[in-house]
Formats: sequence, structure tokens, C-alpha cells
Amino acid sequence: MSVRHQSTLSGWGRLPAPGREVLSEDLEKAVRGRSLTRGLGRSYGDSSLPPPGKVDVAGSMLADRILAFDPQTGVLLAEAGFSLGALNQVFWPQGFASPVSTGTQYVTLGGMVAADVHGKNHHRVGTFGAHVRRLKMSLAGGEVVWCSRQQKSDLFFATLGGMGLTGHILEVEVGLESIPSPWIWAESERIPSLDRFLIALKEAAEEWPFTVGWIDCLKRGRHMGRGILMRGRWAEKDEAPVDSPPAKRRFTVPVEAPSWVLNRLSARAFNAVYYGKHVRRQIRGIAHPETFFHPLDFVVGWNKIYGSRGFVQYACVIPYGDDPRPVRQFLDLLTGLKVTSFLSVLKDFGAEGDGLLSFPRPGMSICLDIPARPGTADTVATLDDFLISCGGRIYLAKDSCTTAERFRVMEPRLEAWQAVRRKWDPQQRLASAQSVRLLGDIR
Ligand SMILES: Cc1cc2nc3c(=O)[nH]c(=O)nc-3n(C[C@H](O)[C@H](O)[C@H](O)COP(=O)(O)OP(=O)(O)OC[C@H]3O[C@@H](n4cnc5c(N)ncnc54)[C@H](O)[C@@H]3O)c2cc1C
Repeated sequence: MSVRHQSTLSGWGRLPAPGREVLSEDLEKAVRGRSLTRGLGRSYGDSSLPPPGKVDVAGSMLADRILAFDPQTGVLLAEAGFSLGALNQVFWPQGFASPVSTGTQYVTLGGMVAADVHGKNHHRVGTFGAHVRRLKMSLAGGEVVWCSRQQKSDLFFATLGGMGLTGHILEVEVGLESIPSPWIWAESERIPSLDRFLIALKEAAEEWPFTVGWIDCLKRGRHMGRGILMRGRWAEKDEAPVDSPPAKRRFTVPVEAPSWVLNRLSARAFNAVYYGKHVRRQIRGIAHPETFFHPLDFVVGWNKIYGSRGFVQYACVIPYGDDPRPVRQFLDLLTGLKVTSFLSVLKDFGAEGDGLLSFPRPGMSICLDIPARPGTADTVATLDDFLISCGGRIYLAKDSCTTAERFRVMEPRLEAWQAVRRKWDPQQRLASAQSVRLLGDIR
């Protein structure tokens, strides 16, 4: 068993907390007596950080073996530390893919289950949890159990999206998707306004398995919400290159940028260039799957450009049915608050899944990267109040400053989830920095 002797740990938004990671190839041993397990730390806020007063968290990254794979059914059993990147590397050339791919491939199976992650195909296939068949878990008291839709189903559904608070996930059995080739047929289109964007996303979702949009959140007036719509599908054998996708070059951000580099002016310039460089109205063709699914991974350590103060990712879903007004009102609110977001991603969600606390529900999901500054927590509070007023919710894997009071009002499912959590962990041994802040866990 090895212990990483960092004095602080952080989530991807660079919020630091005292902590160190206990790593072992034997995850069952590493989690014993620990209040939390962490994967690759790609959640943005404090969900993978230890609660106050605890220092050690178990880290799953060394427990990353494939335990079984059936090429007839596509069912994979692997240890919780097996990463999406490793899955891509091993299975794309064999004609299989993860049913759900996140914007980064540096996530573990355990982290994908605990956050019940979604991808560009949420409208078609739901969350990752919808494809999970069974989980092997070490419970708060040390007992090791299997759970599934049939067996200890309350534990299973509370674990999907339960942010590691129902038990330590040791192994994950999941059905992979069979794919015709490891390449993507992709199209992108410039869209001049929000109203057109919402219609274009809806239309694309009817035809395409993968859809997502990037929007310029700083534009006002008739160009508010202009952006680039991306849609794609796995390429058929006869349209894809014969070779497997080659390894791509990566660039590393060498040093932390000074915090003043990212301001409203530079955000405006970035957004204008990003929109403007899409010169043709439509671009289409074969794309490398990493470029399509995980574009930010080419810049290693890109979170350092936010400087030592880091950043907050605000990810929410706004229910809107056929009336786009709530989405427009949200963007109006952002410009009114002078929120500076470099990357703003739009995705229309499909149906709500089975996870008791999972994030997606029908509506428009918006993700904003906001540099952390004095006053950011007030901005988040205002955005949360808007969400509460329209029945929306935040994504726990990204959250770092929502208050317990607001979360309780926003999340009517919380009490049912807490009841299951209490059943499997009556002494509340499992906790995180997030659960203390957001769920009011007492330490
Ligand atoms: C660039 C980028 C793009 C992203 N894009 C998407 C996206 O498209 N869709 C999406 O849904 N999310 C996205 N995310 C968020 C990310 O998918 C989730 O935060 C995911 O949980 C991270 O996995 P991880 O292995 O790094 O887990 P960590 O960040 O280490 O942990 C996240 C949570 O999972 C729990 N956990 C991890 N492993 C275990 C385990 N073995 N047992 C029990 N609990 C465990 C932790 O306790 C914590 O609560 C993105 C993140 C980044 C940085």
C-alpha cells in the first residue's frame, strides 16, 4: 500500500483541502476505515476531498484491472480504478466503446458511477448508470457486497450519482456499446442566436446520437447565445479510415497563469475568436474520436490557466418544455451578473434515469467555467435561486459552493436518498468535504 504524501488534495477546479491519498492495487484494503474513495480527481469541486478532520482518502487509480470481458455480449467487469482512457485504448480497436463518454477520458469507472455521468448521447442512451449491471462495494462497516437492479436495489440506485457516500465501489460490471468503426463522422454548424440554437439542438437530437453546443455567454441582444452546434455518430466501416486512430500529441501548460489573465476582456476575445474561426457555416467529415469526445485532454493541466485561485464550474439543468424563456432568462441573468465564462457548453437532456440523486432530467443543461474571485459564491447563490424558481438542479460533480439550505429546497429527492444512505451507513462513517458543506453532515 502506498500513501501519496501531498499536504493538500484538490478537485479539478483547484480548490485545495488538507488531504492525502492512500493507493493500493488492493482497493478493498485501501478503503478499509476510510471515509471516502477518490478516482482521478476530475470532479471540479470538493466531492472527492476528505471531510474536515480527516486527512486520508482511498485512491482507486492503481486498482485498474480488467477482470472479465465477453465479446458476444460486450459485458465488461473491471476494477473501479480502470479509466475511460484505458477503456478507449483497449476496446475501440476491438469494436466496442463505453456507452457514455465524458468530456475528459481521465475519469475512472468508480467516478463515472458515483457521479452517474452523462455524455453527448444522453438524449438517446441516458446516463452511465443505465448501462451498469452490477457493482461490488465495500460498505461503511467493512462488509463487501454485490448490488444490482435485482439485488440490494436501493443501495444500487442510491450509489448511481451518490458521490461515493453510500459505499466504496470496488468493481463495476457494465455493458459496452458495439461500434462499426473507432472513428466518428462529425458535423459542426455556426448558429447565430439562442432561439435558433434550441431548435437546432432539438432537430439534431432526432437524427444524431451525439449532440452538444458551445455558446458565447457574453453576447447580448439578438446574438445572445450564438455558438457552434456539434453532432456526430460512429462512422460506418466503409467511410472510416482503415487504420485505428493514432495517438494524438498533447501539450502541457507549464506553469500556473497569474489570476488577472482571465478577465472579461480576454473571455470576450476568446469567445469571438472561437466563433469566428468557424468560418464556413457547416463543417463535416471524419474525426478522431478523442478530438470529438475529449477535446480538452490535448492540453494537459489546462486548469492551471485559471491561476492559484482556481475556478468554479457551474453546471445546471433548466427545465423548459416548449417554452425557451427560462433558458433565455438564465443567460440574461448571467450577463446581468457579468459572469465571465470562457467555455459554456449546452446540452439538451433526455429522460431522468434511475439514480436517486443523478443530475440529468429533461431540460437544457448549461456548464460554465467561472474564474474564482471574491463574490463568486454570491453569484452562485443568485444562479441557484433562479434554478429553484424554475425547478432546475445543479450537478454535484461540479458543485463547490452551493449552500445546504438552497440544495435542500432545490432537491426534493434528497430525503429519499438520505433514507437509503442511513440504512447502509447508520453511523455516517462515509463523508466528504462536499457532504459536510452541502448535506449538513455533522463531523
Ligand atoms: C474536462 C472535464 C470534462 C468533464 N465532462 C463531463 C461530462 O461530459 N459529463 C459528466 O457527467 N461529467 C463530466 N466531467 C465530470 C467527471 O466526469 C466526474 O466528476 C467524474 O466523477 C470524475 O471521475 P473521477 O474518477 O476523476 O472521480 P473523482 O473526481 O476522483 O471523484 C468524484 C466522485 O466520485 C466518487 N468516487 C470516485 N471513485 C469512487 C469509488 N471507487 N467508490 C466510491 N466513490 C467513488 C468520489 O468520492 C467523488 O464523490 C468532466 C470533468 C472534467 C474535468
